[in-house]
Amino acid sequence: MTRPTYVYDLAALATHAAAVRAALPERVELLYAVKANPDPGMLRTLAATVDGFEAASRGELRHLAGVLPGRRVAAFAGPGKTDADLSAALAADVHRVHVESVAELHRLAALAWAAGRTVDVLLRVNLPVATPGAVLVMGGQASPFGMDPAEAVRLAADPPDGVRVRGVHAHLASGLDATTAAGVAREVTDWAVRRVRAEEVNVGGGMAVDYRRPEHRFDWPSYGRLLGEVSDAYPGVRLRIEPGRAVAVYCGSYVTEVIDVKRSHGQWFVIVAGGTHHLRTPAAKGHSQPYTVVPRGGDGPRTDGGPVSVVGQLCTPKDVLARDADSDPIAVGDLLVFGMAGAYAWNISHRDFLMHDPPDFTTGDPLAVARGWGR
Ligand SMILES: *Cc1c(COP(=O)(O)O)cnc(C)c1O
Repeated sequence: MTRPTYVYDLAALATHAAAVRAALPERVELLYAVKANPDPGMLRTLAATVDGFEAASRGELRHLAGVLPGRRVAAFAGPGKTDADLSAALAADVHRVHVESVAELHRLAALAWAAGRTVDVLLRVNLPVATPGAVLVMGGQASPFGMDPAEAVRLAADPPDGVRVRGVHAHLASGLDATTAAGVAREVTDWAVRRVRAEEVNVGGGMAVDYRRPEHRFDWPSYGRLLGEVSDAYPGVRLRIEPGRAVAVYCGSYVTEVIDVKRSHGQWFVIVAGGTHHLRTPAAKGHSQPYTVVPRGGDGPRTDGGPVSVVGQLCTPKDVLARDADSDPIAVGDLLVFGMAGAYAWNISHRDFLMHDPPDFTTGDPLAVARGWGR
């Protein structure tokens, strides 16, 4: 029995990140949102390609300082920053603090002023921009994220001592295709330039990832071309993006072994080691996680090739990794290689529920790793 294992393909990540970078105009900055996956190997791999990292908590700031010592953090974000969080951002000399509310700006200004500093900020603005097809919507409606446009206009016109308002940050939705995301970028930039005379605009992340059609990927070349047009329209403005999921998701897999198969009231169940306490993504998003079967020639019980539900070891009916998935026959002892587990996977999982062992972690090509395992 091999422990469930996350396999991070760092070579594939380096290639993918380089392709994303190459698709964007040189003058557009690419940040990586650390919350998507803070794995140290991934961060070190991305460090060669991205222009910077976006930290969304004091913990992520500390983590970045440990993994990439000496590298200045590009952005510090997140709703509900305490004074300790803001002080940590000042101490780390973060390049831009993304401010989420009027009160937060005043607290940051007071801390900076007391330290004899002036801190550069972007105001996170909740703009009413249409985001057709979005999976999650963070803005354009009542939301805990960012401030209303009128508040941002007022703060930018008359900022308190201790802060310099450089521009606007907006992360309004996730699951956007290239055309929609670029349209949002244009609307945000247009507003930011006209209303707060922004020098910098960070249009956030949220590029679409399609778990049902893994080969259907965000169209980075089109997005890059359209962002180039936005950038051409506002030559004095520095544009910046901060994707997480669409950068990291394809470069992680969760490999696990089939413990049991059974038929229950006419349906096949495949029970694997581990489960959603290691890989919460399908439970959180309500999809079937795509997987590949690596047969190991066992002569034990097997399914008949009909649709299966793949479940884990937890004592809850919610521990489902894939539901009614079409599959070749699956036998006890086979390995399942779940793809698209490089972002919002292990790091969002309720790892202590039922107190099973944690997964192992390794790097490499996931199918090669799985085929290399003995029985
Ligand atoms: C989570 C987050 C991101 C990254 O979003 P993805 O969907 O992973 O691309 C970027 N910016 C902010 C402010 C976020 O909260």
